[in-house]
Amino acid sequence: MMKILVLNAGSSSQKSCLYEIADDVLPNHSPLPLWEAKVDWTHHSEFAEIEVKTVKGETVQAEISADRAAAIAYLLNTLWSGSTQVIDQPSEIDAVGHRVVHGGQEYQQSVLINQQVREAIAQLIPLAPAHNPANLEGIEAIEQTLGTQIPQVAVFDTAFHAQMPAAAATYPIPYEWFEQGIRRYGFHGISHQYCAERAAYLLGRDLKDLRLITCHLGNGCSLAAIRAGCSIDTTMGFTPLEGLMMGSRSGSVDPGILIHLMRQAGYTIDQLDQMLNKESGLKGVSGVSADMRQIDQAIAQGNPRAQLAFDIYVHRLRSSIGAMLASLGGVDALIFTAGVGENSAAIRAAACEGFSFLGLNIDAEKNTQSPADQDIATVDSKVRVLVIHTEEDWAIAQQCWHLLKQA
Ligand code: ADP
Repeated sequence: MMKILVLNAGSSSQKSCLYEIADDVLPNHSPLPLWEAKVDWTHHSEFAEIEVKTVKGETVQAEISADRAAAIAYLLNTLWSGSTQVIDQPSEIDAVGHRVVHGGQEYQQSVLINQQVREAIAQLIPLAPAHNPANLEGIEAIEQTLGTQIPQVAVFDTAFHAQMPAAAATYPIPYEWFEQGIRRYGFHGISHQYCAERAAYLLGRDLKDLRLITCHLGNGCSLAAIRAGCSIDTTMGFTPLEGLMMGSRSGSVDPGILIHLMRQAGYTIDQLDQMLNKESGLKGVSGVSADMRQIDQAIAQGNPRAQLAFDIYVHRLRSSIGAMLASLGGVDALIFTAGVGENSAAIRAAACEGFSFLGLNIDAEKNTQSPADQDIATVDSKVRVLVIHTEEDWAIAQQCWHLLKQA
C-alpha cells in the first residue's frame, strides 16, 4: 500500500486529497480519496475558508489566516488529528504530488522535485504568474511539515503537449520570439491524458490504435487531438487564453483588437488582461454569468444575449473540433469532460450536430442522462462519443505511484 497526497494549487484555491494505492494493480478508475480538503481565498482577502471531508463522512470547516503556508499546515494537521484523522502519523505518507501548471519546454514528463526542478518552476513564473508561485509555496510548506526526505513529484499540465509537432507548436511570428520561448504549450494536459487513457479502457481498445478528440469544457476550456496516446494539437497556446470561448475568458480573438484598444482608447496592460481573462467569454457576451447553468436559465427566460453567448460557444467549439479533426485526419472517439462537458447535454448535442455528416450520431436519451464514463453515441454511429468524469488528482497520484515504483 502506498499513501499519496496530492496538492492541486489554483490561483485562489488549493485542493488536496490523500489516496491509498494498492501495490499490485492500479484500479482503472479512481478510488475515493481517504481525505479531501479545499482552501478558498476567493471570498475574503484577510482569511481563508477551509473545508475538509473524509471517506467516512467526517467534515470540518474553518476560517484561518490567509497565509498559504499556514493554511496548508492547518490542512495537513487534520490528516493525523481531530475528527477527520485518517492516518496515525505524518510518516505514513509515502509521497506528495503537485499539479504544476507550467513546465515550459523542458519538462515532458513528471519528475521528482529537487533543487533544479524548483529553480525551473521559479524561472517559469513569468509564464504562469498566478500558479507557479503557489506551487513553490506548496512544496516549501510540505517540506516544513513533512521534512525534506519526503519524495515530492511535479506533474505538469503542459507536459502532455510538449511533443506536439513543430507546425502545431509554433506561432507564425518573428522566429526570434520563438527562440525566446514564445510558442504554443497547451494546458489541461493531465485531464486530456487521463481521458484518453480512460476512453481506451472504456472502448476496450489499445490507445495506440486510436484517434481521439478530448473536449475539456470547464471554467477554462480546451481541446486536444490525440493520436496513439500523444497530443498532436490543442487549442490553448502560450497561455490558457487561446482557443475556445470559456466562462470568463475570450479564447482566440483578432490580436489587432488589442492594438486598436491600446492605440485608440488608451487601455493599459492590466485592463486588457482583466477584460480578456475575467470579463469576456460567456460572462462578457451574456452579461449574466460565466456559469453555463445560469446561461441556460437566462435562455429559458428569453434573454437574447445569453442565447448569443451559447451560440458563439457552440460555433467556436464546432470549428475547433473541425480543426482537431483535420490534424488527426479522422476520429474514432469524441470525448466530453469537465463541468460543462460532463453535465451539459445541450452543449454536447449542439456540438455533435455539426458532425452528423461524418456519421457521428448521439443517442438523445443517453445524452440527457449525463452519464459519466458512458458511450452516448448511437449503436450505428461511425464515431464513438464518450462522457468521461475527469480525475486530475487521481491521475497525479498515479503518476507519483509510477515514478516511485521506478525509483
Ligand atoms: P474548473 O475548470 O474550474 O475545474 P469545472 O470543470 O468544475 O471547473 O467546471 C465548472 C463549470 O461547469 C461551471 O462554471 C458551470 O458552467 C459548468 N457546469 C457545472 N454543472 C453544470 C450543469 N449541470 N450544467 C451545465 N453546466 C454545468
